[in-house]
Amino acid sequence: MAARKVKSKQSTGEQLFAVKHSKIAGRGGFATRDIKKGERVIEYLGERVSHAVADSRYDDRSKRVHHTFLFAVTRQTVIDAAVDGNDARFLNHSCDANCEAIIERSRVFIEAIKDIRKGDEITYDYAYTRDGTEDDEEEYTLYGCRCGAKKCRGTILAPLTKAELKKRAAAAKARHHPKHAVARTGHEA
Ligand SMILES: [Zn+2]
Repeated sequence: MAARKVKSKQSTGEQLFAVKHSKIAGRGGFATRDIKKGERVIEYLGERVSHAVADSRYDDRSKRVHHTFLFAVTRQTVIDAAVDGNDARFLNHSCDANCEAIIERSRVFIEAIKDIRKGDEITYDYAYTRDGTEDDEEEYTLYGCRCGAKKCRGTILAPLTKAELKKRAAAAKARHHPKHAVARTGHEA
């Protein structure tokens, strides 16, 4: 496999956004200068724990509105930005985002996929992990999205594949509720 050449994109430590009140949800990150497509905005930092530990910390289904700072890095590891996290945890989800989360050597970086103008809110698609048991209420209430994008899919859960849509009906019949905290996911670099 041809390894993608990694240009030196390591952050200079410059903070590229300010955390302020956001119309999308709570607080968000707003660019403090123009950011070019391909620029690395920030690393997603926090305590690295196992999925089991993350699950024990956040039992999503006991909450009315989902709210965690988990990011699933690998099958083994989740980053919990509620512990020792940086400002990356404030970046909001959008279904029409200007950044994406890239996983590189088990680290997570938020990278611009469009040119971003100073003052714009910095967003990425959380594409939360699914465990296959989500029903409509969870999809649109617990994990509902109000990002305001024209192509908003109404949920911060990862888009369903056609196969998953087919399975949905069956899953609704034979429900089981493993305690499973969902987490943001990213793309392998
Ligand atoms: Zn949306």
